[in-house]
Amino acid sequence: MKIIMLGAPGAGKGTQAKKIAAKYQIPHISTGDIFRANIKNGTELGMKAKAFMDAGGLVPDEITIGMLLDRIQEADCAKGCVLDGFPRTIPQAESLTKALKDMGESIDYAVNVDVPDESIIRRMSGRRACLACGSTYHIVYNVPKTEGVCDVCGQQLVLRDDDKPETVKKRLDVYHEQTQPLIDYYKKTGVLAEVDGTMDMEEVFQAIVRILGA
Ligand code: ADP
Ligand code: AMP
Repeated sequence: MKIIMLGAPGAGKGTQAKKIAAKYQIPHISTGDIFRANIKNGTELGMKAKAFMDAGGLVPDEITIGMLLDRIQEADCAKGCVLDGFPRTIPQAESLTKALKDMGESIDYAVNVDVPDESIIRRMSGRRACLACGSTYHIVYNVPKTEGVCDVCGQQLVLRDDDKPETVKKRLDVYHEQTQPLIDYYKKTGVLAEVDGTMDMEEVFQAIVRILGA
């Protein structure tokens, strides 16, 4: 099963993608996590991506598309995958459609997690991230067992630089301009599924499971 998570930054795509990956036993592929891992490891790709990410913009398609297409051809994606944060532009979506077609495959579901901008600002200012293992928490809605420490790997949690309010505003503008048009793109191909992302995390997940099937 090949699934795409659509939605604004902070809508809960990553939270739901991790739950989907666990239930359906498919890899969770987050382009944001791949970029952050590259930044942490000081790679050339990471250095290129960092400036765009810190400014709240998108990493250019020339860098992002090849990276993602390589990843989905790895062996662990044979049974499917859940893509989180990709595609974010129409050229990314078109490249993905074409690459999958060449492999004799296609996207089964594009799940749009719908959350209004007001709630996004609240969610992102409270998000705390583990840059070591990619886990995310929220200071109100998903509190770690020990404040500031990752439940999964014990590393320190941080407020991501790009989750600071001034950058969030810019990221939302970029979302509305470049990523929101993907809702129509996937509606036209008949795979769009809409979910109300304002419910609590478990209710959102149950709504997604009703769409994907048990
Ligand atoms: P995205 O991957 O779309 O950027 P995340 O999954 O990281 O978003 O969620 C953003 C923040 O909101 C995180 O701190 C997360 O714990 C929290 N969150 C996610 N889903 C919900 C929800 N349904 N209700 C409240 N908070 C949520
Ligand atoms: P995320 O973790 O999904 O919120 O992504 C964090 C940042 O990484 C984004 O604000 C972008 O700068 C960059 N990024 C992640 N995925 C993409 C993508 N598909 N295209 C371009 N930039 C991306």
